[in-house]
Amino acid sequence: MVKVTKIVILGGGFVGIRAAQDLAEKCINAGIKREIVVVDKESTHIYRSDLYEVATAFNKKITDSCMLQLKETVATPIYKLLFGRGRFIHDEVIGIDGDKRIVHLKDSGALSYDYLIVAMGSENNYFGIPGLRQNAMTMKTVADALKFNCHLDGFFAELKKKRVSRTVNIVIGGGGATGVEMAGELIGSLKKLCAKYKYDCRKVNVELIEGTEKLLGMDKEGTALVLARLKKLGVVVSLQTLIKKVEKKEIVLKGKDGKLKKKFYDILVWTGGVMVNPVVSAGLGEKKYGGAILVNPFLQSYEDRNVFAGGDNAFFEDTVNPGKRLPMLGSVAVEQGEILAENIFRLSQGKEMKAFVPGKMQMVIPIGGKYAVWKSGERLFSGNWVWLLKRIVYLKYALSILPFWKAVRKWLRSTEIFIDND
Ligand SMILES: Cc1cc2nc3c(=O)[nH]c(=O)nc-3n(C[C@H](O)[C@H](O)[C@H](O)COP(=O)(O)OP(=O)(O)OC[C@H]3O[C@@H](n4cnc5c(N)ncnc54)[C@H](O)[C@@H]3O)c2cc1C
Repeated sequence: MVKVTKIVILGGGFVGIRAAQDLAEKCINAGIKREIVVVDKESTHIYRSDLYEVATAFNKKITDSCMLQLKETVATPIYKLLFGRGRFIHDEVIGIDGDKRIVHLKDSGALSYDYLIVAMGSENNYFGIPGLRQNAMTMKTVADALKFNCHLDGFFAELKKKRVSRTVNIVIGGGGATGVEMAGELIGSLKKLCAKYKYDCRKVNVELIEGTEKLLGMDKEGTALVLARLKKLGVVVSLQTLIKKVEKKEIVLKGKDGKLKKKFYDILVWTGGVMVNPVVSAGLGEKKYGGAILVNPFLQSYEDRNVFAGGDNAFFEDTVNPGKRLPMLGSVAVEQGEILAENIFRLSQGKEMKAFVPGKMQMVIPIGGKYAVWKSGERLFSGNWVWLLKRIVYLKYALSILPFWKAVRKWLRSTEIFIDND
């Protein structure tokens, strides 16, 4: 019996789904048989860019069905995205043995491979700040976003039940994309929640805390633009302020004057950093590359020619910032997923592989309602039309992974839900 080449893809995220779909199509078109296996600990593929919308969406009443509808705006079952052309294993990867070409799964045991694509993304990084992990909410998974949504609603319901009327402090740690998006969108969400629970919205503070002097990692001009928008919405922004310690209802901050001060909070969200998936760091990654896998121009590991990596798991040097990796962005991940499919296809056919050439770095960040900032290379744009661009980016993405009408329906439904509190 002829052995069929087995390609195992770890992670059904941006890299994994793009690679699986493209590879399956290439093989079918070329009439060759390949076994494609996608492994993910979650059953759904998540469009993470809109998690802040899921977290802040308004619900007249919190029910299981409205939570499911919310989840479906960004989540799609992975098996459905494989269209029967690949196998999905819903299991957690706990180890990778490159020497034996085996992946260890929590429930299903050992899984062998001929070629491996490592695309398990990143996890929250708490930078060892005492009490942060235990007390802060996070915004990495769809479960995090739904939990925040329910918690916020429950919090105001409780205040109403107890007839409490006091100052409420919602603190967001981290002035990157997720923190800025969350802070901006929360303002609209809180207006609706306060109306729902008849709470005086003027008593609710939203504060964004960032350790550096930059927002979204932008230069002075970009930071000033984002800062002005957040201030206009009513968000208090503290730059050059470090979270040093977190207790149950109190954080210790160190400001730019070097002094420590305590701050009471009701809800704390941590969006201040991510790190390469620990399973990858412990197995194939290297410490000096932040735990990522150092890849050659073909996205192939320098250490093991049967291992490929993409997205957050790959250290691919950024030519614009020598010595640094490409930013952890969805756009980079999707582009790399395409090249991974192409190269594994070419390799198994004995053809020369294609080098990955990154596209122009783009960042579209909505900041409250129908307004967004777009950074394209060195150029900066902002306004309502940029917000529309953000929605078009999602439509384009949905169309790239789903059949036409399914993508359009998903996009229309999500847009309808997300603009409700704009
Ligand atoms: C809240 C948030 C907002 C973002 N917004 C933007 C944005 O607006 N624009 C942008 O360009 N980028 C954005 N990013 C970054 C972008 O989402 C990532 O860079 C991108 O998802 C990386 O793709 P990936 O395929 O490497 O990982 P992911 O898309 O994260 O996929 C990793 C997959 O691996 C699975 N997995 C993890 N561990 C295991 C395990 N042990 N076993 C099995 N499966 C596992 C996960 O469940 C997941 O499905 C955002 C990220 C976050 C967290």
